[in-house]
Amino acid sequence: MSQRSGKGRALFYTRDSGGKHEETPAEYVGWVQRTARELGLRFSGTAEAIDEMMRSGCAVSGDLFFDLCVQGHLLSRPALDALKAEIVRDQDVSHVFIPRRDRLARPDNALDGVALENELRSLGITLVYRTSTHAPLPKRHRPNMGETIVSLIDFDQSGRFRQDLAEKMILAQLSLAKSGFSTGGRPPFGYRRWLVDAIGNRIRELEKGEIVRKQGHHVMWLPGHEAELDLIRRILAMLELLPATEVARRLTAEGIRSPDADRVRTDNGVKHQVLGVWHATTITGIARQPLNRALVEYGRRSMGDQLRMTADGPRCLDEQDSRADGKPKVIQNPVHFRIVVPAQFDPIIPADQFDRLLSILDQRAGTQRGKPRSRDPGKNPLGSRIHDLGCSWPMYRQPHGKSFRYTCGLYQQSHGEKCAHNHVDGLTATRFVLRAIRQRLLDGNRLRKLQDKIEARARAELQSSAQDTKLDAKRAEFAQLQGQLARIQKNLALAESDELFRSISEVFTELKSSAQRVEREVASLERLSQVPSSVETEVAIAFEIIARLSELAGDASNLAALSQLFKQVNVQVYLLFLPVKKRRRTENKMTGGVLTWGNAPSPIQKYQGPTGRGQLRLATSQRTDSPDAINGSGKTDVVDSGGRDRSLGNVSRGDRI
Ligand SMILES: [Zn+2]
Repeated sequence: MSQRSGKGRALFYTRDSGGKHEETPAEYVGWVQRTARELGLRFSGTAEAIDEMMRSGCAVSGDLFFDLCVQGHLLSRPALDALKAEIVRDQDVSHVFIPRRDRLARPDNALDGVALENELRSLGITLVYRTSTHAPLPKRHRPNMGETIVSLIDFDQSGRFRQDLAEKMILAQLSLAKSGFSTGGRPPFGYRRWLVDAIGNRIRELEKGEIVRKQGHHVMWLPGHEAELDLIRRILAMLELLPATEVARRLTAEGIRSPDADRVRTDNGVKHQVLGVWHATTITGIARQPLNRALVEYGRRSMGDQLRMTADGPRCLDEQDSRADGKPKVIQNPVHFRIVVPAQFDPIIPADQFDRLLSILDQRAGTQRGKPRSRDPGKNPLGSRIHDLGCSWPMYRQPHGKSFRYTCGLYQQSHGEKCAHNHVDGLTATRFVLRAIRQRLLDGNRLRKLQDKIEARARAELQSSAQDTKLDAKRAEFAQLQGQLARIQKNLALAESDELFRSISEVFTELKSSAQRVEREVASLERLSQVPSSVETEVAIAFEIIARLSELAGDASNLAALSQLFKQVNVQVYLLFLPVKKRRRTENKMTGGVLTWGNAPSPIQKYQGPTGRGQLRLATSQRTDSPDAINGSGKTDVVDSGGRDRSLGNVSRGDRI
């Protein structure tokens, strides 16, 4: 790093605070202008320029660097990154002005803040906060210990602020929720936001997005227009008889606008206008809305990266709250974490109708309710093919670290009450199944034996080909018709009177049309008999399929191909977990298992009951009581229903086609 001059160009960086009792960015720019003048530095920023940046959301403008709506714990932000680049590019930059340390960062770990500060200083610039100034940090120069400690404490406090804020917000929301007030957000379909006083007396309906701050007043969700409530009642009545997709289809066909029509949504990062089309999820969402039976539910879902809500107060984030990439995810809170209080209005539908509808919906939803489906088969190669032998449940895919794992579904759905934390690494399991298929199915010796069997079978089939007999008969019929037509044509030419000519020509037309019909039948029978027309082609087709399997099995890292392979072979994995004593606690370890393919019977009666959390208690207690829960039932469970007739499960089984 070359030496920068002490008097050069000044840059200004800040993050918008959202705090109301702070100086505005424009006021900060005034501070930089004054100080830069005193120090003899060049600085082009103006209050107007930063106001414009606030309006436009632009991150960089001349000497101004402004991160709008970027959280302080993220250490890579558009304006901050641009600031660093500009310092490196322009050796004239000598000073960087930042209002306060918490404007630079609110790090989760205070050391990250110190490191960021040192990184800027080691670029050779002087860092100027409102209350302190920090000289450039020469390379390989130990930072001053006292200075580092102060910096550490500052960043620790600014990081803590985020957590304090999260805690305060959750506690405030809790007390609101417990009194039945809204904790923010848009009301569900059919409801409106009302301004109410501390004991719930209605003041007035609020406009969409209107914010009112009034001492001792709150917002409450109350039933809206009677037309919308009637529509809700109608939807709920239809839903008892029809699936949600059908209800949605009918409403769309009737031209009734869906609740979110004309809103702009962002899905997978793409902004799009919501069309007026009804979706099954909207329908079930309306049916499951507790407000309809006059209950206010709070805490169905949790989001945010600091603390999360439970009925007793905030809790820290744990492993389950993060996505595979480490970002916090929105989770569905278990029922006992939610707060439910009676609403201050009459229910739209009777409670028993609501409960009845919920149980219908739970039954229809089957196994996957509440589990977002992986859209990419490559992410879930063993989806619905891996089971816990102990409890007979499927194991569900779960993101884990940078990879994924399969964890007992019963354990997940019962929140650890009904089964142990049985899990297996996803990639390890996938590779194991692949090895098994390569060894036992696609091995050379086995394939040769299989070839012999396929040939024998194909020969037997050809000998008794009923189709061919039928084709021969039709061909003979066609030849006969052709002969007759030729004779009639000759007679036609020889016909002496008009009358005779007409009558012969009538017969001719009739015969001609039946000849055409038979010709078509012959052609279609020929098409049918073409596949397979010989032992060789039939065997070739079978082996093409096997070659395709080998190809799919060729690349252990191509999970999408493996997923296809597993589907074609209809692989099923059953894992056995047993407790193993560790130094401190007992942990369940995988100790063995069973692998089947084709139509081989499952070693256990797979759990077929409901998997919704609410119904779990009843269903599982019944199941574990039955003594024949674990024994070879001989029942064939075919998870995949597509194309069974041509299923390769048959070919691959190795005993017959
Ligand atoms: Zn289990």
